[in-house]
Amino acid sequence: MAPLPKKKHSRSRTRRSRAHMGKTRIQLSKCPACPTFVRPHHACPKCGIYKDNYYVDSPVVEKKVVDFITK
Ligand SMILES: [Zn+2]
Repeated sequence: MAPLPKKKHSRSRTRRSRAHMGKTRIQLSKCPACPTFVRPHHACPKCGIYKDNYYVDSPVVEKKVVDFITK
């Protein structure tokens, strides 16, 4: 049989514990090629650039821009 709690936790004790469970905001940084914001360790959703490399095919940004950044 699993161990059971002896007493009910008070409302404040429960809420004090839950105070540490809050979500944190994702830190967004600007894409080097376009004005959109990018999540860390992710390719840009609009132009597909991540760390000077081109990963996703996108019609928004031309190849010229990518070449300009990588140089
Ligand atoms: Zn971008």
